[in-house]
This record gives sequence, C-alpha cells and structure tokens, in this order.
Amino acid sequence: DELRGETSGEKGSRQVPGYCYSRVEPTPVQRPHLLAWSDELGDFLGITKPAETGPAVDTLAGNLVTESMKPFAARYGGHQFGNWAGQLGDGRAISLGQVRAVDGSRWEIQLKGAGPTPYSRRADGRAVLRSSLREFLCSEAMYALGVPTTRALSLVGTGDAVVRDMFYDGNAQEEPGAIVARVAPTFIRFGNFQIMAAHGEIDNLRALADYTLRHNYPELGAPGPEAYVRWFGEVARRTAVMVAHWMSVGFVHGVMNTDNMSILGLTIDYGPYGWLEPYDPDWTPNTTDFGSRRYAFGQQPRVALWNLMALAQALGPLLPDAQQLRAGLDVYARTLAETQHELMLRKLGLTSQFPDEDRALMQDLPQALMEPEIDMTWFFRQLSHLAPALLADAGDEDALFAELIATAAYSVAPDEDRNLLGWLRRYAARLRQEPADADAIRAGMLAANPKYVLRNYLAQQAIEAAETGDLSALERLMQVLKAPFDEHPEYEELAAKRPDWARDKPGAATLSCSS
Ligand code: AMP
Ligand code: MG
Ligand code: MG
Repeated sequence: DELRGETSGEKGSRQVPGYCYSRVEPTPVQRPHLLAWSDELGDFLGITKPAETGPAVDTLAGNLVTESMKPFAARYGGHQFGNWAGQLGDGRAISLGQVRAVDGSRWEIQLKGAGPTPYSRRADGRAVLRSSLREFLCSEAMYALGVPTTRALSLVGTGDAVVRDMFYDGNAQEEPGAIVARVAPTFIRFGNFQIMAAHGEIDNLRALADYTLRHNYPELGAPGPEAYVRWFGEVARRTAVMVAHWMSVGFVHGVMNTDNMSILGLTIDYGPYGWLEPYDPDWTPNTTDFGSRRYAFGQQPRVALWNLMALAQALGPLLPDAQQLRAGLDVYARTLAETQHELMLRKLGLTSQFPDEDRALMQDLPQALMEPEIDMTWFFRQLSHLAPALLADAGDEDALFAELIATAAYSVAPDEDRNLLGWLRRYAARLRQEPADADAIRAGMLAANPKYVLRNYLAQQAIEAAETGDLSALERLMQVLKAPFDEHPEYEELAAKRPDWARDKPGAATLSCSS
C-alpha cells in the first residue's frame, strides 16, 4: 500500500505506466502435487512440509489464495544483453505476500510459473518442470555454499502441459509444467528503478527507493539524498560480494540482464546458468549468448559493474548531483578484489601474510588451469587433501601433482600440464610458510572447497528422471547439495567430474533461454 499499484486485476499484457506493480491473481492449474520441499527453509519460515496434495500445495500452486494474501506482479524494465528493452516485469512470477520467519524477519513468497500477468507480453506465464527443478535445486545449493541467493521452498508439479519452442531445433514440444515458490526479503531488481527513471516517473522512483530503504536497508537511516548515496554504495558492495562468490565456486549466471540483478545483492532468476567444469573464463552455458559471450564466466565481474552503472543512472534524478554515486562504483571494485582475494586464500589454505606474492600466485592460476582443461571443483577439493603431504615436504611432490592433474584434467596435450606443474611447485613452497598445522589447514580448505556442486549433467539427469515421475535422482542431489562440503560416501559418483558422454549433450552442457 506504500507504493502505487494498478488494481484492475486484468491479466492481459499491456504497458502499465505510472504504477510500481499490478494486483493479479494466480491462474489455477489442473492437479497440483508436491515434488520437492526445502526442509531447512520450511523450518526457518515456520512452515511444515505438506503432504503431496492438499490445501497447502494448492496454495503453493496458486490454486488457493487466502484472505490475507494480496498477490501482485511487479513492474520493471531492464537492459537485455546491453540493450534497453523497455517494460519487462513479472511475466510469470506472482508474489503472494510476506511471511514472518521464526526470527521475526519478513520474507516474500513468490510463485514462478503461476500464470499470466500484465507483464507476460506474448508468453504464457508458465514454467516447465525442467527450468523449475533447476531453479529449485540451484537456489538451495547456492545457499548451502554460502553464496548470497534467493531461496526456494517448494517445487510443485501442475499436471498441465506447457508448450516450449526449443530454440535451436525449432520444434515446439509439450513438457510438464511446474511452479517454484521462491523466497527472499524482496524481489526488487535494478530494473524496477530503471523503468521509473526511463519513463520520467520520478515520484514513483523516489517512493520505491524510500520503500526499499525503509524495509530492506533500515540501518542506512531516513530516506533522502545522503541515504541514497550510502545505499548505492551498499548495493555495490553486496553485488561485489555476490560476484566474488560466483567466481570462487565456478558459477555462471548466464543472463546478467539488469532485470536479473537483485537490489539486495542476491543471486536471482536461475535460468540458463551453469557450473564451470573445465576451467575456462570464456565459457557460458547460454546458447543465446554464444555469439558475444557477454555473460561468460570471466565477464561476470565487468558485467556487474556495467549493471551498477545502469542502476546509478536510474537513481541519478533523486540526487542533486548524480556524480555522488561514483564512490559506489569504487566500493564495487575494491570489494570485489578484496573478497576474491580472501576467498581464494581460503581455497588455497593460506593466511594473508604475503599479499604481493599471493596475488602473483593467484594471477597465474587461471591460465595454468585452462591449458589442461582442469575441472575446477575437483581440483580444489583434491588439493585440500594433498595439503598435509605437501606440508610434510617428503620429496614426492611431483608424483602427487601428476596424479592430481591426471584425475582433474579433461584433455592434456603434451606440455599442457607444464604451467600447472610449475604453479603447484610454487604453491607447495608457499604453503610451507604457513604456521598452522597440517590438519587445521586441510580442514580449512575442505570447508572452503565444496565436494559437490550442481554439475550441469547431474541437473539434467534429475530432470529426465523427474519427467518420467522418478524423483530419486532429485532427492539424492538435494541430500549432497545441502551439505556440499561434507563427505557423502554413499554418493561418491555425484562428485565425479563430468563423464565424456555429457560433453555436448543439450541440457547437460548448454541451455537456451526458453524455459
Ligand atoms: P528472463 O529472461 O527469464 O529474465 O525473463 C525476461 C522477461 O520475460 C521477464 O519479464 C519475464 O517475466 C518474462 N518471461 C519469461 N518467460 C515467460 C513466460 N513463460 N511467460 C511470461 N513471461 C515470461
Ligand atoms: Mg528475469
Ligand atoms: Mg528467468
């Protein structure tokens, strides 16, 4: 009620100038049934896991809207692949409202795939099981890895078929539909501010900024020009922390459009994302981006900065001098460098006594990993196990390194391992300068280098099984991904590097935006 909302309730696609959101009810589905549930998030929100069907699942499918809910879709715009795209908005996401968690904090619950809204443009407002399962699993996996992210409470099958045009073969195909209930303090994005600024709706822009400050950044003080400047700096800082975490776990978002950038610095909108397997800064899973590779792994730090500049431009009209926001961009650059450095120190089991030497060591690693196509996750995990032997300096290092490279590499031509061998020798010498004992160093590294990440082909296997009604692969993945730093001896194969057959398999290696 603090913001201007459009209240017609009409679901037809249209421009909605002058408003921050539209009231719109979810469209019921055939046969809602629970497919997956996040126990941890449910406990935190004080919501018990429902049975497979029933009123709770009806609510999570949008079939049942209780009196206290005020469903709405937000109006936002955005830059897609660098171009201003005008009004986008929640075309298939409908927020039901907020719940209070056990610690008193407020969380918004949003149903993704709940039917058309005024922002659906020509699309159907629905989501397929394939993409919903991916969003559900990855949200919770990222959370367990310590990456700032929106969460996912439930995955509900709809019983309805959804037609999707798979981008590259051009065949329209029926797929099972699903709805994810995703959860965050707010889903406001950079694009919510951009659309107001683009249309000169400065009153709405200020109202939304003030709303965000009051509800999501109360520590920054009463809304006003000074608070806006502090706020932009804080958004920049959080965005930097988020991207640094992506880089440290090998996550590629895939569609870093400004409408997919959370104002809270959370990873949001899991679409054609992917996990780096062979280390390659130029890799992207998103087939829509194969030409420009704008959103490839190594581009993410730069793109986030570009997106922050777009946000700064949108917030400019609220300030006497928009140049005041420049400091926030410096905060971004500084925080990104510092956080990446700290996270890499932890991955390598090092403390911060030799910053210059360590920076050089870190700078040389990407190229060394790239040449033999080293599996990033496997490499760091195995390096953690090697630490005690390297610290003991027993003289058999090279044999250990050769074995590490042999098990972590996807493709080593003669000599392609030379840089990595050299790097590993330098690293071992540096590690021996650490004062802590071997067990402590190994334990620290094992807590920084996950054994389990959502490898692209594992997600695809879980999808293919779920599409035939078999949820066991999904459940196994949930088990390991919610404790990714722990050993799960019964699920050793889920930590293996990508098998050969998965290399170029659609879905397992590449994805389009069609979801
Ligand atoms: P995305 O690329 O997923 O960030 O989506 C960009 C825009 O397209 C957003 O406004 C989405 O809400 C909208 N959109 C994506 N898929 C659908 C769909 N199936 N139905 C309606 N709107 C959609
Ligand atoms: Mg989006
Ligand atoms: Mg999306």
